[in-house]
Amino acid sequence: MASRICDSVLVTGSNRGIGLELVRQLVDSPTPPVQIFAGCRDPNGQRSQVRNHANTIQKSLTYTTSPTSIAEASKLVETKLKGKGLNLIINNAGVNIPGSLAETGKQEMVDVYTTNVVGPMLIAKDFHPLLCKAAAQFPHQTSMSCSRSAIINVSTLLSSITTCPENFSVSPMYPYRVSKAALNMLTRCLSEDLKKDGILVMSLHPGWVQTEMGGPKAPLTTAESISGMMKVITSLTEKDTGTLLDWEGKNIPW
Ligand code: NDP
Repeated sequence: MASRICDSVLVTGSNRGIGLELVRQLVDSPTPPVQIFAGCRDPNGQRSQVRNHANTIQKSLTYTTSPTSIAEASKLVETKLKGKGLNLIINNAGVNIPGSLAETGKQEMVDVYTTNVVGPMLIAKDFHPLLCKAAAQFPHQTSMSCSRSAIINVSTLLSSITTCPENFSVSPMYPYRVSKAALNMLTRCLSEDLKKDGILVMSLHPGWVQTEMGGPKAPLTTAESISGMMKVITSLTEKDTGTLLDWEGKNIPW
């Protein structure tokens, strides 16, 4: 029988797009996690598709830009875990405002940064004790994995400073690119900081995917992207902490 990816997982931004398909594939996996926390800011909102899967998904709410509600979500998750730790957080919720230099002002920069960087940072901070508890449940294990304890930040190829000259002109996107480069630095800082706790932290690029953000011209369906991401997630070890990989497991230069 295939081994379980982990016992418990939190996915943010799971009401649609990549987050929804992540939850769907986790639920449908041969040995699904015992507890899947599907974070959505408005599970009953018009654009929410996650409630169609409500029978199989543990209810949890996460509004990634509100510190109060992230703290509340961590308390709710803690209660539902009944003394166990949380193995895996997938910081998927994100926003893109396509913005050239002329179109981008302070508000656009701040709004996108708040969701794409401050949200994942506060989630890492508030859920850190639960991740530590999960890592400590394997007292004789020194290796890192998503089945033990991990944070995956969903990033993008467009965050790469090295490859920017190859793709800048087709997608200028100042707020988005800058915020995701900052998210990568958050990944690097957390990966160094949390090594002592046995927590793996990495950034993962899902490919260009057909979602509201990716648009209809994207080459990948959510099903294709997420089945690749699931293979990568399952295979991660300590050599991958602090890296940026794509949905096929290929390394992307910072
Ligand atoms: P979508 O726009 O389809 O979905 C975005 C999700 O994030 C929604 O669930 C949305 O919730 C949630 N979200 C946005 N802002 C907030 C917030 N402030 N608080 C809580 N939740 C929020 O995007 P994708 O599914 O395509 O993208 C998911 C991730 O993948 C993002 O981080 C994105 O940057 C990344 N990515 C996507 C690519 C693509 O081609 N699609 C390529 C590379 C990276 P709500 O419905 O409430 O707005």
